[in-house]
Amino acid sequence: EMFGQLTSGLEAAWNKLKGEEVLTKENIVEPMRDIRRALLEADVSLPVVRRFVQAVSDQAVGTGLIRGVRPDQQLVKIVNDELVKLMGGEVSELVFAKSKPTVILLAGLQGVGKTTVSAKLALYLKKQGKSCMLIAGDIYRPAAKPAIDQLVILGEHVGVPVYAAGTAIKPAEIARQGLQEARKKNVDVVIMDTAGRLQIDKAMMDELKEVKRVLNPTEVLLVVDAMTGQEAAALVTTFNVEIGITGAILTKLDGDSRGGAALSVKEGIGKPIKLVGRGERMEDLEPFYPDRMAGRILGMGDVLSFVEKAQEVMAQEDAEELQSKIMSAKFDFNDFLKQTRAVARMGSMSRVIGMIPGMGKVTPAQIREAEKSLKLMESMIEVMTPEEREKPELLAESPARRKRVAQDSGKTEQQVSQLVAQLFQMRVRMKNLMGVMQGGSLPALSN
Ligand code: GDP
Repeated sequence: EMFGQLTSGLEAAWNKLKGEEVLTKENIVEPMRDIRRALLEADVSLPVVRRFVQAVSDQAVGTGLIRGVRPDQQLVKIVNDELVKLMGGEVSELVFAKSKPTVILLAGLQGVGKTTVSAKLALYLKKQGKSCMLIAGDIYRPAAKPAIDQLVILGEHVGVPVYAAGTAIKPAEIARQGLQEARKKNVDVVIMDTAGRLQIDKAMMDELKEVKRVLNPTEVLLVVDAMTGQEAAALVTTFNVEIGITGAILTKLDGDSRGGAALSVKEGIGKPIKLVGRGERMEDLEPFYPDRMAGRILGMGDVLSFVEKAQEVMAQEDAEELQSKIMSAKFDFNDFLKQTRAVARMGSMSRVIGMIPGMGKVTPAQIREAEKSLKLMESMIEVMTPEEREKPELLAESPARRKRVAQDSGKTEQQVSQLVAQLFQMRVRMKNLMGVMQGGSLPALSN
């Protein structure tokens, strides 16, 4: 099983929490030690492990328990979300050029699976209806000729033309000729395989720079062997500094790698893993889904969906309580604050955001903006009297009260007026929405 050791290492952490009622600073010490050990054994670098464990423990004791969810289950969920984050969050799609052909340059050390990946990628794109061409640029391998032959054979196997020009000309020149050929053939995508070395050296980098200059590729993908472990971070960083890359392809995930590379690539310079190779067959290439990968590592798919359901139910209950308030026109500043805070809290849990109907995707900038305006609102609501909070009409009707709130909170009267108006707008808007949802018609909008 992929990353089996990591999976069982983490399991120890959940098991220590069985029978506990809550997550506390004290009872997560042992589980955190297990998580730390499991990650280090998976060959994740120490600084990353430290940050990871810190983030998980902060959340474990910082967020309240979800009703009906056991502490060990909640910890699984928190670790899952952090793993997803560590691996880049969202899936990173390949980027295609606006005009044909899109050029994909593959780089990487020798033996990582570059030639294999070239052909796999061509087949992968062909299946998406794109016409492809391969360029054989791996001319320096010991017994170089077979490397090119290998690509020609693989190209034939997947039914994609290969541009090969022998081993006598420089890769940059092969690239130039190949690109010309691709334009003539009017193909959608050109994939160039390049020569790797056993170690990073200047000659290889210079050559890649030359090739890159000639090709002006849309994607420069570093092919990384999953067995590389935490070194993957340094590798990605070096290649990025030297030639500039757009992402990585992780190969040999079907082998007995421990997981370190998968967890370290993004940490390097923030470049995502875009694709993974999981076998020697040409079909064994797929997009890299951080969430599925985290799910596989944890091997607790049912616990995860259970916790997610529970979160949904809780959000639902909050929403229902709010609904009845709105229906009875009792929605006041206290609810306003509660509501806005709930949204802000959820904002920091970006994965949860998608669950709120109508919220869709929320960007970090939007979340920051929301947090800023929440602070502003809070400061004004804080200086209101309890009566004013419960009866917003008092503020709506009295300029003197608004003035006092402005003075006490250090804001302008205009800002206070805006806040009051916002509350009433929210009442109206939600009432309208409720009417529509319950089969009523939308009342005419009054201005
Ligand atoms: P290159 O030197 O980077 O071009 O590496 P090759 O493409 O020649 O691959 C080196 C070896 O790794 C070959 O024996 C491939 O069959 C093998 N290989 C490549 N990708 C995978 C993979 O995803 N899984 C497994 N098990 N083997 C792979």
